[in-house]
Amino acid sequence: MAAHLLIRNAAWAVLWDDAAKRQTYGRDLDILIEGGKVARIGPHAPDAPPPDGAEVVDASRMLVMPGLMNIHTHPTTEPAYRGVREDHGVPEQSMSGLFERSQSMRLDQAGQAAAMRLAYAEMLAAGVTSVVDLSRPFPEWLSIMAESGMRVWAGPGYAAARWGMEAPQTVTWLWDREDGRRQFEAAKQVMKEAEAHACGRISAIVFPAQIDTVEEEMLRESIAFAAETGRVFTTHISQAVVEIQEMIRRHGETPIQWASRIGLLTPRSILGHAIFVDEHSSIRWHTRTDIGLIADSGASVAHCPSPFARYGEHLQDFGKYRARGINMGFGTDCAPHNLIEEMRLAIILARNASRDLHAADIGSVFHAATAGGADAVGRHDLGRLQAGMTADLVLVDLQHPLMQPARDPLRSLVFHAAERATRRVLVAGETVWADGRPTRLDVAEAAGILAESQARMLRDARLHDYRGRDGDEISPLSLALHAG
Ligand SMILES: [Zn+2]
Repeated sequence: MAAHLLIRNAAWAVLWDDAAKRQTYGRDLDILIEGGKVARIGPHAPDAPPPDGAEVVDASRMLVMPGLMNIHTHPTTEPAYRGVREDHGVPEQSMSGLFERSQSMRLDQAGQAAAMRLAYAEMLAAGVTSVVDLSRPFPEWLSIMAESGMRVWAGPGYAAARWGMEAPQTVTWLWDREDGRRQFEAAKQVMKEAEAHACGRISAIVFPAQIDTVEEEMLRESIAFAAETGRVFTTHISQAVVEIQEMIRRHGETPIQWASRIGLLTPRSILGHAIFVDEHSSIRWHTRTDIGLIADSGASVAHCPSPFARYGEHLQDFGKYRARGINMGFGTDCAPHNLIEEMRLAIILARNASRDLHAADIGSVFHAATAGGADAVGRHDLGRLQAGMTADLVLVDLQHPLMQPARDPLRSLVFHAAERATRRVLVAGETVWADGRPTRLDVAEAAGILAESQARMLRDARLHDYRGRDGDEISPLSLALHAG
C-alpha cells in the first residue's frame, strides 16, 4: 500500500457533500492519505508536524479533485484512427462511419497493445483514474492495465454477428451463433483472470458488444450472468440510426423498449450511448417512452459526446436525461481520450440541443464525470473526495496561464486549460502520472509501433472493404498533396 501522503494547504478542493449528494468547493485544506484512503480532511494547520514518513505535497497553488471516471472506452483500437476517423462518415447511414470502418479496418495485435498504452497515457493526463475498457481481449491486455496503475473494469467484448456492407446504403448482419457462444465462454474466462490479477485494481464488466449483434438468448444469459457474479453489465445501445431502424424492423419497438422487455435495464446496467431514443429528432418514432424506461430502471448512461458530434448528432439532451432521473456518466469512446474536453463539449451540446443555458453546467457534468460514473460501476467510494473514500485524486496547477485567474478553478479547467493544467494523478494514494508522463506505464515505443500498424491497417482495408478501397480512399487526407 502507498505510504502516507499529506497534501498540505490545498488552495481549492472539490469535496463531496454526502448529505446534499453533490460536489462542493473547499478552501485551504490539509488532506491526509493513508493506506490508499483519504484518512482526514481539515482546515490547513500550518504548525502541525506531518505524520512520520509522510511525503508532503505543497498544494497552496493547486486544486485537488477526485479522479475522473471514464465509463466507456475502446483504448485498444481508437488511437489507431487518429488522422483517419475525424472527418469520416457515410451520408447514407445518417453520417455514421461506424459500420464502414468496422468492416474494412482491422488493427493487428502489436497495434492494439501500442494503442492501449497511448490511450491510457492520454486518459491519465486528463485526470482519469478509473476506466471501463471495452475491447476484444488479446494476450497483453490485462498486463498493460496492471502496469498503468489505473483502476480498470475489463470488458471483454463478444458478439454473435458482425456488420457487413455491400453498398453505402445497406448494412447486413452476418450471424455466427456458434462463434458468439465461444466468444462468450472465452470472455467469462478473461473476466475471471482479470479479477484474479495480482495488481488488485482490475474488475470485470459483462460486455455483449452491441444490442443488435447479440441474440436475445445470449443477452438474457449475459444479464443473468452479471447478476449472479455481482458484475456490472454494459452494451452499445441506441448508438446509430441504422441500428434503431434494424431493431424496429426485427421487433416492432426501439432497442431501449426491447432491452427493457427482455430485462437488460437494471441499476447495474450501463447504456452506451442511448442517444437515439424514440423522441430524438433523427428517429421520431411514435412513442415517447425510452427516456422514462431508462430512468425508471435505474440504469446509467455512458455519455460520449465527441464521436456523435462529429457526425452532426447529439444527445437530446443531457439536462432532460438528468431531470428525468437518469444517472449520467461520461466516456471518451474515441480518441482523444480527454474526459475534461468531453465535459466541455457536453455542456455546449446540451445548450445547443435545448436552447437552455441551464441544461448542463460545470456542476452537473462534473458530477457525472465523478460520482455519476462511480455509481454506474457500483463504487460509491470513488469519484468523491471525503474522509474514508478511496484516494483516487488529481492535483491541478492553478498557476498555469490557462487556469488564471483561477476564480472558479473547475470553470478554468473545463472551459480553458483541460489536461494542460493537470500535474499529478493518484490512484489509491500512489502517483501514477506526474509532470507530463505516466510514472509506471511504458509508452516509449508505442507511437512508432502504432504508426506501422496503422499503415498496415489502411493498406489492408482493401481486402475487407465492399468496394475494395484502401484506407486512403475511404478516408483521404484532409488536404490534397501539393502538386509541386
Ligand atoms: Zn463504444
